[in-house]
Amino acid sequence: MSQPGPALSKGEIARRLREASELLRLQGESPYRAGAYETGADALDAFGGDLGAAVEAGRLIELRGIGPSLAQTITDLWRTGESAALHKITGAVPPALRRLAMARIPGLTWRRLQALHDELGIATEEELHAAAASGVIETLKGMGPKTVERLRQALASEPAAAEPAQAAATPRMVLVEAFAAERRLLPRLRHLPGAEAVESAGELRRRCETVGGLDFVVATGRPAEALQAVAADSSVLSIAARDAHSCRIRLYDGTPVTVHVAPPERLGVALILATGSAAHVTKLDARARSAGTTLAELEGADEAAIYARLGLPFIPPELREDAGELEAAAAGDRFDDLIAEGDIRGLIHCHTTHSDGRDTVLAMAKAADALGMAYLTITDHSPTAAYARGVPSEALAAQWREIADAQAEVAVTILRGTESDIVRDGGLDYPDEVLRALDVVVASIHERYRLPPADMTERIVRAIRHPVFKIWGHPLGRLLLRRDPIACDVERILDEVAASNAAIEINGSPYRLDLPPEWARSARRRGIKFVVSTDAHSTAEFANLAFGVMTARRAGIRRREVLNTLPIGEFKAAVRP
Ligand SMILES: [Zn+2]
Ligand SMILES: [Zn+2]
Repeated sequence: MSQPGPALSKGEIARRLREASELLRLQGESPYRAGAYETGADALDAFGGDLGAAVEAGRLIELRGIGPSLAQTITDLWRTGESAALHKITGAVPPALRRLAMARIPGLTWRRLQALHDELGIATEEELHAAAASGVIETLKGMGPKTVERLRQALASEPAAAEPAQAAATPRMVLVEAFAAERRLLPRLRHLPGAEAVESAGELRRRCETVGGLDFVVATGRPAEALQAVAADSSVLSIAARDAHSCRIRLYDGTPVTVHVAPPERLGVALILATGSAAHVTKLDARARSAGTTLAELEGADEAAIYARLGLPFIPPELREDAGELEAAAAGDRFDDLIAEGDIRGLIHCHTTHSDGRDTVLAMAKAADALGMAYLTITDHSPTAAYARGVPSEALAAQWREIADAQAEVAVTILRGTESDIVRDGGLDYPDEVLRALDVVVASIHERYRLPPADMTERIVRAIRHPVFKIWGHPLGRLLLRRDPIACDVERILDEVAASNAAIEINGSPYRLDLPPEWARSARRRGIKFVVSTDAHSTAEFANLAFGVMTARRAGIRRREVLNTLPIGEFKAAVRP
């Protein structure tokens, strides 16, 4: 007996699950529920067997990531093309509008799309355009003139009706999120036809603090097939552009991804082209042209060979911004003393349960030991930071006793410090005699971020002139994608830091990465020293160190310019209040 064919293919079912996952997210449902559908789709994609046989034998639940209810959904979709569970998520909203929801057009929330369909009967993108033009949308409750105008603009900026995702607002992600997306994608890319190597490129490889999309270069002897497989992958919501060497796609979760393919012998130049900023690549090409060729024509399986053909040393990806790295390379800089994680000997700027940290002094010290660190600075918040349970002066003695007790159990040297608030008038928190009794003072701004720039500049300059000011913590106070850097005269402040013998923190919290590289380069030119810090609020956040180092490398900071590469005696002397 021949089995009836499926109502939907395996790939189509995976797409429906991914769509359900994203719609749940857009509806504000629990991330776990949304994630379950995505995991199910991944499981289907990875399943190499006969799906029909697995459905009929009731064996879907044996696949990792597929539980009983998801198995039922998949079975329903396989047999009928419909699923009651998915229908609960989509309501009656038709596929064309569901795609618009995932395109994340500003103002076009799920609830509004639902109303457009249920109340105005809009079912296609063309009907939505017509409704936006005619003004009928304004009759909907909650659609104010501003929202409608923004929606009109978003729809008008859309280049092609067939490509709704093009109109999407592309939210940038912070670097740590881009790494997570990379981890999810790499295994899929390694399975592309003929793939011999898969490398990240673009902003992620340059370690930019925020990333607008992911870029990969796949070395394969079967480039056309590989691109075909990328375009057909069930995680692809839409294809934005495609040529013989690359495919630009948008995933269901909104992430833009560009996959470049190259035969293995051209991997080097393909990586250089896909990694550097446009300005860096243009300058390299100009160099090639002055030698009678072009960058794209150069052969070489690795990047170093290509740079060598251009008479340059290998330039680390973090530097490829055309921020002076090509001139430095041409002048003989080999970048081999660029700061690296292995150079760091001390974990700076760490919080404990004494303020808003989650782990005790002892737990932090043991974790620092496990990392092989020579020293650790405990810098809990000061009293003014009441929201962060800043440590009052009279409670410091108890913390010091705890530090002494912990010290007896670990090899790492625990230094007594504070993250002292720079208060409103530029003074530091704690009386001077308390500050002078500490090993290290990180001074940071945590409130009143919106002073007029001249007042802010004065406030910071006054703090820097304080004799115990030795480390300027998360200098510009930015929170990536959430809070802008404080407005102040940074050049003037850097002059003051240079005159004061203080150091500047490169804060490794992936949501800060502060001082930003463009200013850190400016600080370097003045001979200012740095500490690369963790701002850890738990032992797990010691992993922030890697992000601090990446950010420091982007600024071209060298080992000798970083105080926490020094042995403990020299470090203590350099930061002693
Ligand atoms: Zn802070
Ligand atoms: Zn802190």
